[in-house]
Amino acid sequence: MITPVERFRGCLMGLMLGDAIGAPFEGCRQGIEPDFQKDLPAVLRYTDDSEMAIGVGESLIASDGFDPDDMAMRFAENYNPLRGYGSGTAAIINMIKSGMHWKEANTKVFKNGSFGNGSAMRAAPLGLFFSHRTGQLRAAVEEASSITHHHVLGKEGAVLLAYAVSLLVTQEVMKDRNHMIDALLGFTSSDEYSAKLLIMKELIKEEASGEQVVLRLGNTVLALESVPAALYVFLVYGSDFKKMMQVCISLGGDTDTIGAMAGALSGCLLGEQALPGEWIQKLENGEKGKDHIVEIAERLFLMHQAHS
Ligand SMILES: [Mg+2]
Repeated sequence: MITPVERFRGCLMGLMLGDAIGAPFEGCRQGIEPDFQKDLPAVLRYTDDSEMAIGVGESLIASDGFDPDDMAMRFAENYNPLRGYGSGTAAIINMIKSGMHWKEANTKVFKNGSFGNGSAMRAAPLGLFFSHRTGQLRAAVEEASSITHHHVLGKEGAVLLAYAVSLLVTQEVMKDRNHMIDALLGFTSSDEYSAKLLIMKELIKEEASGEQVVLRLGNTVLALESVPAALYVFLVYGSDFKKMMQVCISLGGDTDTIGAMAGALSGCLLGEQALPGEWIQKLENGEKGKDHIVEIAERLFLMHQAHS
């Protein structure tokens, strides 16, 4: 029996692990088969995905709930340009750092806002926090996305990722893979994402090849490609974290973000105890490393208990 607090810890540890394991392979072509004994660095370093998820968690804790202005400030405070941020997000964060309000900055790079996966990759802590209050989840996650990813497709990717996390906290959804897809179909009003969710069902039924998965779902930094790809990889392989990461990397493209999203889902399903210990050991642990993200998970759990 996996306790709820183990799911919270597993979710955020899984996010950081998936990010750090996927990072060395970012931009690879589809079809490579990583040898984790050989191909992983001595210290696993996380990237922007984890750094921003840390900002989301820190803000929820400090504000005792969701406060978008505080969250924007934390993104700016935590920003480390060496963590591999996308250029659009980096530009928006720098504008926020220089004093511009996020509501102005978020349409300065793209007129309608970004539809990259930068808000979905950091949405898992919101899914945990709002897991017993899904009536509030959508509005909060959309606004949290808007800070840097204002486009409707960017926001919806974050909403679906957070909602999937909330389902894993509250329901036994892995008994039937189609159950989660149906729940997501019921939660989204986006034609674009609904189409991808239906494709996921077909791919599962066909036991599709990696090539087909990339062809039909995509693997790029666009939220509409990488969020469905991460959900798919999780639904098919998420009960085995190592195997799942192997598949994430073999899809190529935005491997760290697909890894972070699938990692958060798998960690939430399995709990922290089931994550590969030798990988956790290699994960960096500086000022805001693995201990910090686990502490965030525990504090979010306590807040979640108090609010529910
Ligand atoms: Mg990254």
